[in-house]
Amino acid sequence: MMLDISSLLLALGVSTFCLLFTFLGTWIARREVSFLLSWAVGLSLTMLGIICYSVFTASPSRGMAALACSLMTSGFLTLHAAARQFRTGHFPVPRLIVFCASAAILLAGAFLSGYGGIGFILLNTITAVIMLAIARQYWLARAESPGVLSSMAALYGITSASFLSCALALIHKGVWDLAVAPSGWTEDLNMAVCIGGMTGIGALSLTMHQARITARHRRDALTDALTGLGNRRALFDAYGSKTFHEDMAVLVFDIDRFKSINDRYGHAAGDDVIRNIAMELKSATGLSSITRMGGEEFAAVLENAAPGRAEWIAEKVRRQFQDREINVNGESISATTSIGIAYGIASGLTFEAILSLADDALYAAKRQGRNRTELALASWHDDSATGADRA
Ligand code: GH3
Ligand code: MG
Ligand code: MG
Repeated sequence: MMLDISSLLLALGVSTFCLLFTFLGTWIARREVSFLLSWAVGLSLTMLGIICYSVFTASPSRGMAALACSLMTSGFLTLHAAARQFRTGHFPVPRLIVFCASAAILLAGAFLSGYGGIGFILLNTITAVIMLAIARQYWLARAESPGVLSSMAALYGITSASFLSCALALIHKGVWDLAVAPSGWTEDLNMAVCIGGMTGIGALSLTMHQARITARHRRDALTDALTGLGNRRALFDAYGSKTFHEDMAVLVFDIDRFKSINDRYGHAAGDDVIRNIAMELKSATGLSSITRMGGEEFAAVLENAAPGRAEWIAEKVRRQFQDREINVNGESISATTSIGIAYGIASGLTFEAILSLADDALYAAKRQGRNRTELALASWHDDSATGADRA
C-alpha cells in the first residue's frame, strides 16, 4: 500500500511543531540552558523546510525545491551545532554559517539548473552525513547519562541510514533531471522513520535535560558556594561509613582569630581569606575530600598515609598560608591557621571518632598558641576505638 505523502508530511510537521513547542516552553522556564534554544532554532528551520517541501509536492518548481532543501539542511546543521553545544558548551556559529551556505549553494545549483534528481541525492546524502555527525556528538557525550544518550545516538544513526537508503535508491533510478518530489517505498519508509525518530528524540531530549538538572541540583547540594569545595554533607557521603586504619588520617583546619579579621576588615575581606585558604588546600597534594565544614573550618582526608605524611602536608599548608599576601581593599593582609590531625588505628576508628579526635588536636593547637599543627595522642584513641581487641 502506498502511503499518502501529504498526510505523512503533515504528521512530520505536527510532530516537529510539538517538539519545538516543548523545547521553547522548557527554555523559557530555564533560560540559561541555551542549547535548548539552539535546538528550537534548528527545529524551526527544519519545519519551515518541511512546509516549503509540501508546497513543492503540491505544485513543483525548481525554486521551491531549492528553498525547501536548503532550509532543511540548515535546520539539521543547527541541530548538529546544538548537539555539539550540549556536549562542549560551545555553539560554533561561524562554522555553522559556512556549512549552511555551502549546502544551500550546492543544492540550489543542482535544482536551479534542472538537475532535481541530483539535488535530491545531494539532500539525502548531506542529511545522512549530518545525522551521523549528530549521532556521534551524543555518543561522545554518553558518559553523562549512558542509556538516554546512547538511545539518542542510535535514533540519529537509524535516521541517517534511512536518508542514505533514499540517496542510494535515487542513484539506482538514475533520473538526474527529476522535476517532482521523489516517491517510492524508501521515501515512505524514510518519512515514517523521521516521524518516529522525531517523537523519540523529543522524549529523550527532555529526559536528558531533566537528568542534567537533577545532576546539577545534586552537585549544588554537595558543594560550598563560596569556595567550590565539597561541604560537610559531601564529606560524610564519601567517608561517613568508612573505617579508619593507620594508613588513613583526617586533618582539620581552623583560621586563627578570624573574628578579628572580620571585625577589622569586614565580612567580604573575611570571605577573601576563606577563599585563600581553600586555594591553599586545593593545591596541597595527596588530600582527598577537601571540605569546608562551615565558617572558617575545613577538613580533609589523607589516604595511603605513610607515618608522618599528614604532619608534613599540614605544615606545608600552614607555612604557605601564613606567607600568603591577601589583597583586601588595596591593603595586603595575612592570616594563619591551626591544624589538628588524627590517624586511624589498627582496630579501626569510625569517621565520627577520628573527626572528633582531629578536633581535639585542633583545640590543643589553639590552646598552645595557634598557627601550629597538633597530632591526636595515642592515649586519646583508647576512648574512641571501635575494635573490642583494644579493651
Ligand atoms: P580562633 O583562633 O579561636 O579560631 O578564633 P576565631 O576568631 O577564628 O574563632 P571562631 O573560629 O569561633 O570564629 C568563627 C567566626 O567566623 C565567627 C563568624 O563570625 C565567622 N564566620 C563564619 N562564617 C563566615 C563566613 O562565611 N564569612 C565570614 N566572613 N565570616 C564567617
Ligand atoms: Mg572556627
Ligand atoms: Mg577560627
